[in-house]
Amino acid sequence: MSGSKVRLNTEWLCDCGGCHVAIVDLHEKMLQVLQSVEILKCPVLTDEKDYPEADIGIVTGSVRTEHDREAAIAMRQKCKTIIAFGTCAVYGGFHGAGLAHSREEIMDHVYRHSPTTKTDTLPNNSISALGKMVTPIDEVIEVDLYLPGCPPHSHFILEGLSSLINRTAPRVHKETVCAGCHRVMKKTAVTEIQDPTSSYADGETCFLSQGFICQGSVTLDRCLAPCPNHGIACSGCAGPTMQVLSEPTRDLRTEISERMSRLTKIPYETIKTHLEKSAKTHYAYAMATKMIGNKPTFLIRKWIAEREAR
Ligand code: SF4
Ligand code: SF4
Ligand code: SF4
Repeated sequence: MSGSKVRLNTEWLCDCGGCHVAIVDLHEKMLQVLQSVEILKCPVLTDEKDYPEADIGIVTGSVRTEHDREAAIAMRQKCKTIIAFGTCAVYGGFHGAGLAHSREEIMDHVYRHSPTTKTDTLPNNSISALGKMVTPIDEVIEVDLYLPGCPPHSHFILEGLSSLINRTAPRVHKETVCAGCHRVMKKTAVTEIQDPTSSYADGETCFLSQGFICQGSVTLDRCLAPCPNHGIACSGCAGPTMQVLSEPTRDLRTEISERMSRLTKIPYETIKTHLEKSAKTHYAYAMATKMIGNKPTFLIRKWIAEREAR
């Protein structure tokens, strides 16, 4: 530590920048943090290209390029404690959905066939090439603490930083998004899965009871449930619960299918097939982690092939 302050580095890898914005979004609480923390490197606040020695290193984003890999290793070498911050760093994040396609398919689609960037020019060697795989950062460096969330809510950011600054054990919250959701689960006579783009859910009843897919019950609460409380079903951006991660044959589709079939009159198999058909959407945030990708029940390429064959 320099003086009495904790030295902090942050670095972003393959990500959207939202996790760094979330740190800045601590607003006036940032002043509280700055009483105890000296920020040495932070891409949105400092122009520090090097990696100074630091006590805490926050890494956001996943590893997809050689640049990401080198930056993660440099952070590990210079920071005593590394936090994998945000769903991208912890589980690979939504761009893990890219694993459902080859690198060549992605480059071809983005640079040759996208209506907004149509061109025949592929990126040259001056930028770090897209790697074959998206990986969470703990496949490249050792991680000391994990804080998923897309991005994590400021409540959890402040709590995590405070425990590190005060050298106390961080509290492990195991609640699902349902814990913060005001909607009521109840048995209904709904017989069909609803399309959220063409029908409305009421504001009081659990989405599952109304036939809409909601991932709140299989998602760790790192957000305080803003989506279901404001009319939008949870898409699982904070990543899966420990139960979903750790049970080899349990999965978000088995969990949701069981719960929803109990709450409605929609058969279990109908819901499970529906989730498999749209697996790239439902599994997007965590499919890059081996804990999901290596499950014997996770068959993304088979599900996509079946969907495309229809
Ligand atoms: S976890 Fe979400 S908010 Fe954070 S960098 Fe990834 S996509 Fe952006
Ligand atoms: S499944 Fe969704 S709508 Fe239902 S209680 Fe959980 S978060 Fe709320
Ligand atoms: S409610 Fe679900 S989709 Fe919304 S922020 Fe929380 S985890 Fe993400």
